[in-house]
Amino acid sequence: MATAPITKPASVRAAANMTDYDTLCAGFSWDDAQALIDGLSDGRMNIAHEAVDRHVASGHGEQLALRWISKSGSQQDFTYAALQTETNRFANMLRSQGLQKGDRVYALLGRVPELYIAALGTLKAGCTFCPLFSAFGPEPIRSRMEIGGANALITTARLYKRKVKALRPDLPDLRKVFVIDEAAEDTLPLTDLMADASEEFTTEAMNPEDTALLHFTSGTTGKPKGVVHVHQAVVAHNWTGRIALDLRAGDTYWCTADPGWVTGTSYGIVAPLTNRVSMIVDEAEFDVARWYDILEGEGVNVWYTAPTAIRMLMKAGTEALQGRDFPALRFMASVGEPLNPEAVIWGNTAFGQPFHDNWWQTETGGIMIANYAAMDVKPGSMGRPLPGIEAGIVEMDPEGDSLRALTEPQAMGELALRPGWPSMMRGYLHEQARYDKCFRDGWYLTGDLAMRDADGYFWFVGRADDLIKSAGHLIGPFEVESALMEHEAVAEVGVIGIPDETAGELVKAYVALKPGYEPDEDLRLDLLGHARKRLGPAVAPKEIAFRKNLPKTRSGKIMRRLLKARELGLPEGDISTLESDET
Ligand code: AMP
Repeated sequence: MATAPITKPASVRAAANMTDYDTLCAGFSWDDAQALIDGLSDGRMNIAHEAVDRHVASGHGEQLALRWISKSGSQQDFTYAALQTETNRFANMLRSQGLQKGDRVYALLGRVPELYIAALGTLKAGCTFCPLFSAFGPEPIRSRMEIGGANALITTARLYKRKVKALRPDLPDLRKVFVIDEAAEDTLPLTDLMADASEEFTTEAMNPEDTALLHFTSGTTGKPKGVVHVHQAVVAHNWTGRIALDLRAGDTYWCTADPGWVTGTSYGIVAPLTNRVSMIVDEAEFDVARWYDILEGEGVNVWYTAPTAIRMLMKAGTEALQGRDFPALRFMASVGEPLNPEAVIWGNTAFGQPFHDNWWQTETGGIMIANYAAMDVKPGSMGRPLPGIEAGIVEMDPEGDSLRALTEPQAMGELALRPGWPSMMRGYLHEQARYDKCFRDGWYLTGDLAMRDADGYFWFVGRADDLIKSAGHLIGPFEVESALMEHEAVAEVGVIGIPDETAGELVKAYVALKPGYEPDEDLRLDLLGHARKRLGPAVAPKEIAFRKNLPKTRSGKIMRRLLKARELGLPEGDISTLESDET
């Protein structure tokens, strides 16, 4: 917090979408944001109408909506008119295959055009869209498809064969699987079906409270949570894209997130398209030279990325930037994990402007706290709440049974938000009690610890629970523990996140073995391989350590907190409930 703020030149302040934060906050109502979207007759709406159809209707059909860059570097462009045609075809294709309003359409795809067409076409048809990260292994896929009751899946022949085919008996609701390439006897050819489908489709006029998107997020215990978002969320997506990312119609915008995670949908599809930008989609994984080529060659104006990627760019050093120039780059933002002050400052040196950190989570649907274009940036801070968002720092009142807001500067507590913004989740699917637990005394509790300084800037302190953030992906220790428990040698397992310079945290598992098994290197590799196969590389542990016993409470719960304190050499805290502990 000691680092000096990075001030913004007057020209940058004057040109920003939001020039005066305090004035806008004071006079703001969500009706103002609602007025920025089109809506459909009789108070109905559809996210896809706001993202695509209305721009074609207002004469911008020829503007580039999406430029796809394939792994090999070839490009495919879609104007807003082309996106309209393709999404109409997709919606018609769903209808012809018997999928109706309210059905759940899943996608398990890399960043290919079909993913974006499927997302918007699904919404047009009034179905719920649920993206799955393509690097998930079969286990996370099964649980998410089961919980959501997937009715259709869009994927590739290879992903289907490797990860889904064997699960089909467990997924009785799954009526259709469409593949974007070669279909087999139990899958359908998407391209052929779309070629036969009409280009005309009347976008379903949805009730604003109808479900639009289903995103899964991890819990510390139990299964992943299906987070329900409704069409009304588009009001917040559009508004936050404009205010927190400074998006302007006609901008070239690049969000590096995968739509398998919420950022890649809210800010990789909905916010940019509703703000009528031209977005870049890169199919390939992170690569320093490739990323700089895209930023420079495509003339990116607004770039939204993540701390792990920024740290990897920093590692590559300034040599990688030599001879490059980014005159078009107007705004750079970051989300998903804590962004270290050094990374913010490095951005300022390397690109002539800081990275603007912002904070939100799957449940909030959109950005809640941000560093804005017109605001001075305090390196290491997440910024200030959006106009329309009230954020507080709360703790349980030691005297009573209620929350109290901590108003004194620098007080540390749980980050809480006053519910009521349009993109707030409407529930955890089938889990009312788990949802209800998020709310107390008029606050939504985020599960993050934070503090606020005297200028109203918020600072992330850590998670209040055991969830792990690795390379921007939120990982539930329970899901990892469950997969390892399936292994015949495992008696007990506890999973924690350990600090890592690049990825923020790495998943580490502590394993106690059943009698008759030896904790040797072969078994360690076998366990790592088993977890990777079941969970996929993004979720599986990177390290495994053997223990004779794991620290447990008297009720038998493994004390991850204690495992972590020991790993990091921190004080063990209250261990009065500790039962067995022979390590
Ligand atoms: P997810 O729901 O996967 O988007 O993860 C949300 C969680 O990521 C938050 O509750 C935080 O723990 C973490 N997170 C998101 N943005 C930030 C940020 N700017 N700084 C620190 N942590 C963040």
